[in-house]
Amino acid sequence: MVLKIAIIGAGVNGLSCGVQLAKYYKNLAEITIISEVFSPHTTGDGSAGLWGPYLIGSTKSEKIIEWSKITHDFFEELWLSDDSGIAGICLIPAIRVSSSNDDIMEDFWKDIVYGWRRLTKYELEKLSNETGNKFVQGMQFMTFTAEPIKLLPYLTEIFKKFNGKLIEGKIENFNDFVKNSNYDVIINCTGLGSKTLIGDKNVHAIRGQVARVQAPWMYYTYLDEASNGNYIIPNTESVVIGGTHQMEDYNTIPDEGDKKFILNGCKQIVPALENASFLFDWVGLRPGRTEVRIEKVITDDGKIIIHNYGHGGSGVTICWGCATNVLELLKPKSNL
Ligand SMILES: Cc1cc2nc3c(=O)[nH]c(=O)nc-3n(C[C@H](O)[C@H](O)[C@H](O)COP(=O)(O)OP(=O)(O)OC[C@H]3O[C@@H](n4cnc5c(N)ncnc54)[C@H](O)[C@@H]3O)c2cc1C
Repeated sequence: MVLKIAIIGAGVNGLSCGVQLAKYYKNLAEITIISEVFSPHTTGDGSAGLWGPYLIGSTKSEKIIEWSKITHDFFEELWLSDDSGIAGICLIPAIRVSSSNDDIMEDFWKDIVYGWRRLTKYELEKLSNETGNKFVQGMQFMTFTAEPIKLLPYLTEIFKKFNGKLIEGKIENFNDFVKNSNYDVIINCTGLGSKTLIGDKNVHAIRGQVARVQAPWMYYTYLDEASNGNYIIPNTESVVIGGTHQMEDYNTIPDEGDKKFILNGCKQIVPALENASFLFDWVGLRPGRTEVRIEKVITDDGKIIIHNYGHGGSGVTICWGCATNVLELLKPKSNL
């Protein structure tokens, strides 16, 4: 019997599930991704795709470690392969700083990355003087960027090579779709869409405005964790400078005030950005949730639903691990 699987959503999470399931089931399943939008119009497409847990609600640290480690390993494998360039994977140094002493910066993931260390008092003072801040803690490590504008088309091609099908369309009523379609398995990767599609009140937007500039001399990532902090993340052909994280803000139009905050703040950190050519502004709505939801539900008529949404500001960081988790939930029932 051929298993009929529908994945709803073609963002980084839907595509990661698509590739892992298609590789696992091969010709034993027919897998279709149904989505309202595809790359380059998904939430991740404007992001820098930096590996690093961030804005992920109160998801348990054990789960974040599990999912992000699997994803880090996947990026590393890609980075070492011939596909690194087309998949948009880079290995880069990163600095994360904070001017708050209230909480110790979270570092539970530190053993996953290479070369992690705390910044010294001298380094913090130097960075503070250079940027006009008062940093009291910070860390340095190596990490990956997997820029979705390249990663998503790359994953799409692999999915298609394994006979995966793509359908453009919006599911208006989830229960009707589950009941009336002929799919045995439905995987819900609709991100923020789950707020309306399945009425999940724990889902909310975390608005992110960024800008892209051309600054080929930038070779390291800089993140200020303060609520009004800025960040700079180089990708292969441009640099993302940011950024905002406004809770429950659904405005997808770039705001002039946010743009000023981004440009001025980032120039203060790296004055040479004054000479960078401005490319464009971009706004995305991160699919925030109280915690990431990966859960299997079996309907009365024996269909399997697996939810995989609510990845907040870490959707790229944990995508591959979450897809592995989805596959693990599916395997026993399908007896393959
Ligand atoms: C400014 C910004 C910067 C970011 N930077 C990073 C970063 O550096 N690192 C990182 O890890 N993460 C980052 N993120 C977060 C990351 O982009 C998201 O967590 C991730 O893209 C979410 O992916 P997703 O596949 O779950 O959802 P989405 O990409 O939102 O995809 C959801 C899909 O479901 C489809 N859909 C929704 N409803 C329906 C429906 N009813 N019927 C059919 N289809 C439907 C949509 O069309 C879409 O294709 C950033 C986000 C923003 C906004």
